[in-house]
Amino acid sequence: MAVERTFIAIKPDGVQRGLVGEILGRFERKGFKLIGLKQLTPSRALAEQHYGVHRERPFFNGLVDFITSGPVVAMVWEGDGVIASARQLIGATKPLEAEPGTIRGDLAVNIGRNVIHGSDGAETAQFEIGLWFQAAELNDWLPSDQVWRVEA
Ligand code: UDP
Ligand code: MG
Repeated sequence: MAVERTFIAIKPDGVQRGLVGEILGRFERKGFKLIGLKQLTPSRALAEQHYGVHRERPFFNGLVDFITSGPVVAMVWEGDGVIASARQLIGATKPLEAEPGTIRGDLAVNIGRNVIHGSDGAETAQFEIGLWFQAAELNDWLPSDQVWRVEA
């Protein structure tokens, strides 16, 4: 499995509810590597670009209103197969359909307040990382336990 990077964001509801540590910890414990981390309140322009594929959907304006309403914790995580694995850790978009054990399954109820975003594919990940982070904000580093990383 190839080493990938993905963009993950804890939405304002996750920050407001004090779930940052809980959510970060799940990615750390899984074994992924944190490459970038910052908290910001996104501008409307940033939010509209980020959710541009949903521009024609009825929920678009409400979604942009919400995502710009307060701090978001933006992250880049790296690891083997991290893009799909992060989506599994996150769970289904509708929290009531998300499996228990997933972030949305355990921590959310409402689709409009589903606490976290994760890139849905390789192209999206590349686009979103570039949209939210400057290259200089990303850290390449070698965790000391990576000496025993093995190929599957
Ligand atoms: N969303 C919403 N109502 C809907 C569908 C989506 O409020 O009917 C919001 C929800 O916060 C979701 C985001 O729009 O996380 C992006 O939708 P997408 O289908 O891309 O879901 P995701 O990739 O976040 O699982
Ligand atoms: Mg999506």
